[in-house]
Amino acid sequence: MVTITLAKSLEIGQIVTTAEADHQRELGNIKSKYAFECIDEKCDAQITCANLLKEVKERKKDPYFIYVGEHSDECKEKEKIEILEREQQERHDSRPRKYVSEKVALFNFDKPSNKKVETTSVGSNASVSTRTDQPNATENSKQEGTRPSKKALSTWVELFRRKDSDISVIYNDEEIHIRDLFINIDEVKDLADLEDEPRIYYGTAWVNPNKNGIQFTFRRKKFNELTQNPSLMLYSNKIQNESENGRFSEKTLKKLAARRTINDKPQPITVYIFSQLPPQLSKNGKFINFYAKELTYIYYEK
Ligand SMILES: [Zn+2]
Repeated sequence: MVTITLAKSLEIGQIVTTAEADHQRELGNIKSKYAFECIDEKCDAQITCANLLKEVKERKKDPYFIYVGEHSDECKEKEKIEILEREQQERHDSRPRKYVSEKVALFNFDKPSNKKVETTSVGSNASVSTRTDQPNATENSKQEGTRPSKKALSTWVELFRRKDSDISVIYNDEEIHIRDLFINIDEVKDLADLEDEPRIYYGTAWVNPNKNGIQFTFRRKKFNELTQNPSLMLYSNKIQNESENGRFSEKTLKKLAARRTINDKPQPITVYIFSQLPPQLSKNGKFINFYAKELTYIYYEK
């Protein structure tokens, strides 16, 4: 799903399309796929140009822009992109599919407590939201003839744990089997080798409160020449509300951060992140960051 057509290249200081970025790469002026940002003057949200550095022959998809950082509050692009994304998501999820069975399902990233999304969505069928995660979804879908069920990230993790699950997720019109859907980053030697593909990335992480919020810090990893702890930052403003955020409220996470192992070391958790891209190098090349669009894109086990 392409929603971003323009990005500012930090290497050439110009706003470019993906085709222009690809041309500048051929000329040798653009060398990094990570050095892009939002075109709004008051925003520096990082953008990755996925597939840009992949050999042209080996590209399954053309290069595309994707946000991997938070927009500033003043950013005017943010809202435009969100509207486009929501429309595309609804079209994608409501598209009639030929072989609907219990072997395919969609992601459900709706906030459990937020009914606003459901009532304001144009043209979407109310039955989609009420059927979420129901075991009888296949029976219903026979009657309605079209739509696969939607499952939250926690359900996908549960299915993955069962080992014998035979189910695929439909994401961006591609089917990804559950066996291929998960990537254990604890076992990846060099994070730079990971393909630009949507996956559920997971690994051991420690919960570290800091002045901006809560940081999940993963084990040290190689990313080309860099060795760093990949991390995911949850900003305070997103996790403040305890009743709304539940397991992801700052209060709950701080309790997790205080837990100790029998050797009196901080006790880690296992964090799962659904992301369109693997962890990314920061614009300055010094950090390795995960990006989660919403809290519903993250799940953890204690
Ligand atoms: Zn922005």
